[in-house]
Amino acid sequence: MTLLSFGQRFHQTFREGPVLIVMHHKAGSKQIEAVVKAVAVLGLTAAPIPGSERTAIGVLGNKGYVDDSTIRDLPGVQEVIHVSKPYKLVSRDFHPRNTVVRVGDVEIGEGRCPVVVAGPCAVESEEQIVKTAKAVKKAGALLLRGGAFKPRTGPHTFQGLREEGLLLLAKAGRMTGLPIVTEVMSPDTVGLVAEHADLLQVGARNMQNFDLLRELGRIRKPVLLKRGMSATLEEFLAAAEYILDEGNHNVILCERGIRTFETATRNTLDLSVVPLAKELSHLPIMVDPSHATGKRSLVSPMAKAALVAGAHGVLVEVHPEPEKALSDGPQSLTFAGFERLMEEVRRLNAFLGFPEKAT
Ligand code: PEP
Ligand code: MN
Repeated sequence: MTLLSFGQRFHQTFREGPVLIVMHHKAGSKQIEAVVKAVAVLGLTAAPIPGSERTAIGVLGNKGYVDDSTIRDLPGVQEVIHVSKPYKLVSRDFHPRNTVVRVGDVEIGEGRCPVVVAGPCAVESEEQIVKTAKAVKKAGALLLRGGAFKPRTGPHTFQGLREEGLLLLAKAGRMTGLPIVTEVMSPDTVGLVAEHADLLQVGARNMQNFDLLRELGRIRKPVLLKRGMSATLEEFLAAAEYILDEGNHNVILCERGIRTFETATRNTLDLSVVPLAKELSHLPIMVDPSHATGKRSLVSPMAKAALVAGAHGVLVEVHPEPEKALSDGPQSLTFAGFERLMEEVRRLNAFLGFPEKAT
């Protein structure tokens, strides 16, 4: 064996990851069928992805390398691409059409009017959450947020009301008709949270809690996956892949700022990730300007910037008395501040071509 052919063999045998078969633009349905059969012979599933110019065929089901020697020479095959990305179900290459996620009656995704999710960092009492729910609903929020299971940095701070908080949030949601979103921190509470929440949030600190992601992949409710504070976009999308891989395709990404050298803001809002995630993935993406900046005065400007960048929605913390909040007071908007933001969001949405919906 020559060195070159050994190199080629090595390369073919040890390629892992997603595989995409690109058909010639003149390839007919018989040739596509033959490729689908050849993939099936390998024990894998072929998913044809018709395009405007040519058909591509995604190979699903491989956990390791795919030996493409029985495929690449079939008639009509132009190229077999071994994608080096650690995700495929999340990728636009494998799923070109935009995913629109439905939360209650609210649709989130490309072509839909961007939504505003609002509420306190944490549910603190019945009075606090009901008051906030009514205020944000009146101002135009479409979803209510509120943490019950709180992932706090240290154990000596308010840890959330847990199940009691979840039930209070659900009550406030029922009273206002707003679907609710709340964080789930561990695989063993997924069932409980899924019973009450309309959208389950994975917090930044849990983005790579793979057992949690897999558990969320097994439920029917949609998931809001926040970007880890030190996660690259590739790691973020690979985390989403865990949820899709288990069968739940209703995932919304959420950029919430990343760690950089800058300490003037709590995190650094990586807005360019919004259009880039939309290029690489079909999943909707939202932005959380509250955790991204940590400063009340920056929430409104960055919420608007996120919408201009193409975000499908924003997540904003609102509290009746931010100075008394048990968590994240400095970044929480007052009711008046939230009303002002909503006025501006309405004007911005109209400018961006999303007419106001009759409610
Ligand atoms: C939150 O939404 O309250 C929260 C804790 O967010 P993150 O996980 O982005 O810090
Ligand atoms: Mn918070």
